[in-house]
Amino acid sequence: MNLLSSREIRLERRPVGSPVLEDFSLHTVEVPAPAEGLVRVRNLWMSVDPYMGGRLYDNHDSYVPPYRLNHPLDGGAVGVVVDSADSQFKPGDIVFSQYGWREIYNAPAKRLRRIDTDGLPPEAFLGIAGVTGRTAYVGLFSIGQIKAGETVYVSAAAGAVGSAAVQMAKIAGCTVIGSAGGKEKCDYLRSIGADHVIDYKSEDLEAALKAAAPEGIDFYFDNVGGPQLEAALNAMKTFGRIALCGMISQYNESGVSGPGNIVQILAKRLTVRGFILGDHEDERPAFERDVRDWIKSGQLKWQQTVEHGIANAPAAFLKLFKGGNIGKMVVKLSD
Ligand code: NDP
Repeated sequence: MNLLSSREIRLERRPVGSPVLEDFSLHTVEVPAPAEGLVRVRNLWMSVDPYMGGRLYDNHDSYVPPYRLNHPLDGGAVGVVVDSADSQFKPGDIVFSQYGWREIYNAPAKRLRRIDTDGLPPEAFLGIAGVTGRTAYVGLFSIGQIKAGETVYVSAAAGAVGSAAVQMAKIAGCTVIGSAGGKEKCDYLRSIGADHVIDYKSEDLEAALKAAAPEGIDFYFDNVGGPQLEAALNAMKTFGRIALCGMISQYNESGVSGPGNIVQILAKRLTVRGFILGDHEDERPAFERDVRDWIKSGQLKWQQTVEHGIANAPAAFLKLFKGGNIGKMVVKLSD
């Protein structure tokens, strides 16, 4: 049978309030050699992402279906093919899949995407060269239509999407304001070129935004929602634009808040648009070309926070909601 032992994380119970480690459980399964049409993959890296928070609940307003109880969770992962019973893949191929939260799996070939790493480390395809980099790219250029000379504000700016958005907006010739929690993150933002940096945990965000952009903000890239969206609405220019990329402050069922000043959208004639990356597959080729050029030219840098081993994946995930990451949070599963 050529069984390979694999560990996986399952949702043990639905969280009450904010999720805790006890909501997750670790299980060992045996993965057989792949049947015809299947490919057996050993994951090298897996992603933990804020949107997974909404999937832990069965009645939360998430744009992705809830996770099933007592089933392995899923999410982005990069792995190496170990056996293949499909002619499209061979051992050694590096593949992206949604079979995260587990060490080894069998999957139909059509659920895998081969990655041409082109000299980048495989985990970059979970971050700057993958979903998070592409989210920043689509949010700024397709949704935001940013132009050189504009003032752009990015929240959760030291995170994966945020740090990519800060740098891409600089590449586009914008003045960039980034907010993040704590000195280390603010120092990091300065190091990647943000023109104005706000520690929203120790400063009055609205006053700091008005000081950084006395004429107002042209475009706000919102990763947070809630109080930060409220502060940004007050600091926007008339006819400004906002891309609602994410609302991490609202994903857990521990309280939903604001904004209470939604009237500003009317008064300032703002354009506010939510977007989901999955609707923008057609922009992938342009992103892949640009991101590789920017990385090679040194214009675009990336940072990651690494946790080790499948057993630590839930802890890595929970850290996202406590600000425990700079750049992309990833879990290393295998060498
Ligand atoms: P990050 O790397 O930005 O990690 C999350 C960060 O959010 C934390 O480090 C923390 O930074 C900040 N944060 C957490 N809780 C709060 C809170 N209550 N209030 C304010 N800030 C908080 O995650 P990603 O880059 O992966 O994701 C960023 C956003 O982009 C998320 O909202 C996500 O859902 C969204 N997204 C949307 C996609 C789409 O298709 N629309 C695709 C991918 C991501 P700090 O210490 O600075 O507070």
